[in-house]
Amino acid sequence: MAKEAIIVSACLLGIRSRYNGEEAVSEEVSLLSRKYELIPVCPELLGGLSVPRPPAEILGGRVIDKEGADVTANFILGAEKTAEIAERHGCSQAVLKARSPSCGAGVIYDGTFSGKRISGNGITADRLLSLGINIVSEDNLNGLR
Ligand code: SF4
Repeated sequence: MAKEAIIVSACLLGIRSRYNGEEAVSEEVSLLSRKYELIPVCPELLGGLSVPRPPAEILGGRVIDKEGADVTANFILGAEKTAEIAERHGCSQAVLKARSPSCGAGVIYDGTFSGKRISGNGITADRLLSLGINIVSEDNLNGLR
C-alpha cells in the first residue's frame, strides 16, 4: 500500500531555505519517512523570495520584512502554491516549522522583531488549515494521525 503523503517544511528536512541561509533539520521529522511520503515545500521560496532574505513578521494582517518591505504578496503566492501541491498529492496532514510567518501554526511572532510570541498562524499554515489539513509542528509530532 502506498504511504500517506504529507507536506513538510523543507527546512526541517535539511534544506537551507531559511531567511539566514540555515536549515532547521529535525531527525525526528526525517524519520517520518518510514511511515509517510514526505513532500518538502518552502512557501517563501515558492513565493519568489530568495536566500538569504531579511526576516519577516506579520503585523496588522501584512507581512513586513525587517527592512520595512511589504512581502505579503510573496507569502500569499507561496501559500497558494503550497495548497496546490497539497491538493495534488492528496495531503491531509502537514508538519510545519513552528513560529514561522509562513509555516507557524497557533503561535507566531508579534511583528515587532522583539522575539515576543502571540497566538496566530503563518500565512501558509492558515491556508492549509482552511483546507482542513491537520498541522503539527516539529515540537509536537504526536499530533499526527
Ligand atoms: S517558509 Fe517554512 S519551509 Fe521555508 S524556511 Fe521558512 S519555515 Fe522553513
